[in-house]
Amino acid sequence: MPHKALKLNQPTGDEVKTTTCYMCACRCGIRVHLKNGRVRYIDGNPKHPVNRGVICAKGASGIMQHYSPARLRKPLLRVGERGSREFREIEWDEALSLATQWLGDIRARNPDELAFFTGRDQSQALTGWWAQQFGTINYAAHGGFCSVNMAAAGMYTFGGSFWEFGEPDWDRTKYLMLWGVAEDHDSNPIKLGLGKMKARGAKIVAINPVRTGYASIADEWVPVNPGTDGLLAGALIHELLRTDRVDFEYLVRYSNAHHLVIRDPGAADDGLIARDAEGKPLCAVRAFSSRHSGTAPGSKSGAGSGGTRNPVPFDHDAKTLGFGLRRNDGQKHSDFSLIDATQADIAPLIAGEYTLPGGRTAVPAFQLVAERFLADDYAPDSVSERCGVDAQTIRRLAAELARVAFDEAIELPIAWTDTHGRKHDSMIGRPVSMHAMRGIAAHANGFHACRTIHVLQMLLGAIDTPGSFRYQPPYPKPAPPGNKPAKSRNPDGTLTGNPLGYPQSPEDLLVDDRGQPRRIDHAFSWEFPLAAHGLLQSVIRNAVDGNPTKIDTLFLFMANMGWNSAMDTAATRELLCARDDHGDYKIPHIIYADAYDSETVAFADLVLPDTTYLERYDCISLLDRPISDAESAADAIRQPVVAPDRDVRPFQDVLLDLGARLKLPNMADASGKPMYKDYADYIVRHERAPGVGMLAGWRGVDGALAGKGAANPDQLQRYVEHGCFFEMRVPEAGAYYRMANRDYLAWAQSMGFVATTGPITMQWYCEVLQRFRLAAQGHGEVQPPTTERARVERYFDPVPMWYASQSATTSPLPPGESDARSAPGEGPGLAQAPDPRPRPLSRGERGESYPLSAVTQRPMFMYHAWGSQNRWLRQIAARNVLYVHPRTLAEHAIGDGDWVWVASERARIRVQVRAHAATAPGTVWTWNAIGKQRGAWKLRSDAPEFTDGFLLNHLIGERARDTRYGNGDPVTGQAAWFDLKVRLEHDPEPQVPGHRRQRTGD
Ligand code: SF4
Repeated sequence: MPHKALKLNQPTGDEVKTTTCYMCACRCGIRVHLKNGRVRYIDGNPKHPVNRGVICAKGASGIMQHYSPARLRKPLLRVGERGSREFREIEWDEALSLATQWLGDIRARNPDELAFFTGRDQSQALTGWWAQQFGTINYAAHGGFCSVNMAAAGMYTFGGSFWEFGEPDWDRTKYLMLWGVAEDHDSNPIKLGLGKMKARGAKIVAINPVRTGYASIADEWVPVNPGTDGLLAGALIHELLRTDRVDFEYLVRYSNAHHLVIRDPGAADDGLIARDAEGKPLCAVRAFSSRHSGTAPGSKSGAGSGGTRNPVPFDHDAKTLGFGLRRNDGQKHSDFSLIDATQADIAPLIAGEYTLPGGRTAVPAFQLVAERFLADDYAPDSVSERCGVDAQTIRRLAAELARVAFDEAIELPIAWTDTHGRKHDSMIGRPVSMHAMRGIAAHANGFHACRTIHVLQMLLGAIDTPGSFRYQPPYPKPAPPGNKPAKSRNPDGTLTGNPLGYPQSPEDLLVDDRGQPRRIDHAFSWEFPLAAHGLLQSVIRNAVDGNPTKIDTLFLFMANMGWNSAMDTAATRELLCARDDHGDYKIPHIIYADAYDSETVAFADLVLPDTTYLERYDCISLLDRPISDAESAADAIRQPVVAPDRDVRPFQDVLLDLGARLKLPNMADASGKPMYKDYADYIVRHERAPGVGMLAGWRGVDGALAGKGAANPDQLQRYVEHGCFFEMRVPEAGAYYRMANRDYLAWAQSMGFVATTGPITMQWYCEVLQRFRLAAQGHGEVQPPTTERARVERYFDPVPMWYASQSATTSPLPPGESDARSAPGEGPGLAQAPDPRPRPLSRGERGESYPLSAVTQRPMFMYHAWGSQNRWLRQIAARNVLYVHPRTLAEHAIGDGDWVWVASERARIRVQVRAHAATAPGTVWTWNAIGKQRGAWKLRSDAPEFTDGFLLNHLIGERARDTRYGNGDPVTGQAAWFDLKVRLEHDPEPQVPGHRRQRTGD
């Protein structure tokens, strides 16, 4: 069309309202253009801090999400069998009365009989609080099957996380490594950041078995084999240690690398940090110099850039370090003193063995990590074949990291004060940054893989320094944060705290007297002790099995457990319909809340229809997952830009209504009247602590305060006037080194983010893990049952390690280990702990029967299943194919475009393959969640999503093979989606289209 025919200056509508996008998890600011009260057009809000006006295909297609035919229209009550989709429409009063009756009975009997689990919602600050008021421990959101490995490893290591809680220093980083980052992750912010890097000519390296999305614009693609990221990171650490390219100064200042670790096999404190009488951690210094006038980063008295080329305030004696460690000569030092390791300006010894008062031995934590990664098992030549990356490339990547970090360090003239009160004139930066996401997390070795990357960052001095990875407020928090999962109830029936949290010792677990799980998902049990986000993927199986106990009601919100959120989809759908000997459903009641007619609706007894994101208030809170960037603390709201045209209600309103009907504490007053009119009222008036509410902006009665302050009745109006977001800049002096920056921490305390202004010590060595291992070795009041000991002992290693992820999910115990060897009192101790070195693959792990790794990618143009009903996005893709490297196709004598069978141990599915050279040869992949179950989403019965589209979920076991454990990481329970191994099988009619699936034995 000729340009002059386009009327570009015509108003799109008669009104524009701002709100926050919900077409993915990034929470960009949008402008919704309305005409006669209907949505005509959506574009990005140029003033919004997340996207600066950028809108993606998903965001712009929100109009079709809002007007989707798949929207639910009225509450539904099941009248047919589960799965039949036979419902009758009911009024809200009947729906809420029924839910109140079911939930009221439960609360009077045993609140834990309610399992309340939510999907990718953005109101967990409300839903978690609601569960706490109800009193059930059985609450979680979707993190357990998303990226809890990433979150937990970060929070236990440095009090932050990649995810959406930190970001590369986009304006200054010169070298970015993207580890397994899905192409829709943190979508617009990453795109904007990568654009900045490209403009500056900075190098981007994508480590990913598939080159799509962000990886497609990277300067270098490293096609790593799935599940070996941690091994590759370990090899990079090996090289940096071998070449002595380590920021020792940074480690000593900000981590516990110099803390002494007790080495006393068999003792109850073996492997714990040695402490003085006041509980202060100890380190060793040379006797003639217990104090050292060392330099501080950015101080005038020294270059302060640390690394290996400058004066440094530690004593590493290069000859000893480089390395007695490799030989592990056990050299004992006698000319040393033990001092408080948290002091400023000390020169600790970071290698060697030291004698503690009483004669026991201790070694610096640095040495323990160095011993592991300097072993030949982590040498590039040793890991190359397994990782699929040649050794020379690994050595080069390590050298590039070191060159940029140490030889191209940057210095910013920003004065700041550290937590010791020392003033500095500038900030020194290591312009190397890393970002990682689900690709490395969704393996049964993901927790340790993520921790290994964090150790790599620390080694380079590249966490929260100029040019490196940066925390986003409210992070950093103490590592780990102080909130633990609640275990008990108050007299009024409420839980004593939030059901989710971060255990710090075995005493924090939710287990019964026999050490068995208390939660329905087995989170925070000896099976998955650090399951910080719960295990949604295990709930249905366990509920049907009554394991550990029966539940009465499964209450799901936005969690498509009847399809793409379930492993072994067919089995899960059967479980939802399972009946007992009396013919009753084994899960007596299922309540499901969603805006759309997804596959899971079919299995609900009661359906509570939600609004679309354009019809309600939402709160993107600093108490939950805010929209901060490294420069600012920020939060946001959604406002209703149009009124619902159906008989639907915002789920958050419904939840508060239910709470009031149930007369839950803090939702109904003494007379039984609701305390909150609706969610908007709750957002404004609810306080989590005095002065700390859901929103940080315009607090105080006149709206003059930020962070803390009394409730402001006009708060939501002020947000609307300001584009539905609030941001407050971090003071310049608090720009970096936030874990030990007094200027930042004082500001963070004033905002309510941290309790004190004390330093946050990064956990190079994770003592929390060792506490669990000691329990497995027979120490302490709370110990695992005999059946769990070897597993806990193996995987709770305080030093990051790598193991083949299949080895954690294919046998109850690692080969060669038995339960018997770890009876109480017989633990092998730190020095004799199970061998953590990468070991040769077993036959099964080599995948001789199923030689290919199979993974999914979330498309940039759809967020999981959310785009399935969106007629604009369906034009981009209404079906998916299996992408295979051309060489792999040739080896199998399969043609590009053929229909083949993809088989795992669990099932096989018939799919079409396409040649894709940007796929690692040992990997196959497809888009996630395009395939649909016939009958759902109001799609036509011949929709390509049904006929040709498919899910890999059908091939994935919900239980780890041959075990009673869920298919996940033994530390956190993270669902091991990407450990799937498959093979390709010919179909006799490769040109005949059509998707089918068969379970093994069918
Ligand atoms: S990136 Fe996500 S939040 Fe931002 S516009 Fe796109 S869909 Fe919306």
